Amino acid sequence: MNPAPTPRTQVRRIARNASYDTGLLHAIVDAAHLCHVAFGDAHGSHCIPTACWRVGEHLYIHGSNGSRMLKQLMKQDCCVTITHLDGLVLARAAFNHSMNYRSAMIYGRFELVDEAGKRAALEAFMEHLAPGRQAQVRPGNAQEYAATTVMRIALAEAACKVRSGPPNDDEEDMQLAVWAGVLPLGQARGAPLPDARCSVPAPDHARAWQDGAPGC
Ligand SMILES: Cc1cc2nc3c(=O)[nH]c(=O)nc-3n(C[C@H](O)[C@H](O)[C@H](O)COP(=O)(O)OP(=O)(O)OC[C@H]3O[C@@H](n4cnc5c(N)ncnc54)[C@H](O)[C@@H]3O)c2cc1C
Repeated sequence: MNPAPTPRTQVRRIARNASYDTGLLHAIVDAAHLCHVAFGDAHGSHCIPTACWRVGEHLYIHGSNGSRMLKQLMKQDCCVTITHLDGLVLARAAFNHSMNYRSAMIYGRFELVDEAGKRAALEAFMEHLAPGRQAQVRPGNAQEYAATTVMRIALAEAACKVRSGPPNDDEEDMQLAVWAGVLPLGQARGAPLPDARCSVPAPDHARAWQDGAPGC
């Protein structure tokens, strides 16, 4: 079921671009390899980029046990944002320039993933990066797992905002002799670059990389 907006997820500005659709939220999270996590401490506000992935109705992050960010996130609510920039929207009037995008904001408190859930969560992370790779690599050892903190936040309180399409110029500007339209923008996947000391043939996930949809 789609979550209802709360006082902090109720989009007011250009509300027609807002969505609380769970499927859209999942798609925006799944297309991301990173999120930005905003939190505060004695030094002020911070907004830190970090890797993320989704399992079910939670967004996951991980890091060193010594991470200042992870320690702070155990103690306070935070806001996680994900943004995909899809194009620059060039209007006839300077004022009406815009951007096409898909964004999500998630609010709440991260919870620690326990030891039992940690391995499955990190395997899901590997699957998100490169499907099938977990079975090919040296798995984490006890020391590596012990040094790693995994946390998750529920996707229960979240808002999405999506802008797409051409510029919205005022009617009186439509006759101006100015080029208007969208300059599409996105991530591009490059050809895999094998490590110089690697003599192993490229696995499926590396060979398929360049043909995959960017951001997916
Ligand atoms: C690539 C990009 C470029 C942008 N450029 C600009 C710009 O130049 N100037 C500008 O004013 N705005 C820009 N925006 C829109 C911006 O993200 C905000 O939506 C907007 O500024 C309104 O903020 P607000 O706090 O007044 O909105 P409000 O509608 O008051 O926000 C209320 C709540 O709605 C939700 N919300 C707001 N914005 C978003 C969002 N983008 N995604 C998901 N949930 C959201 C949050 O939960 C927020 O607390 C841009 C967005 C993107 C993704």
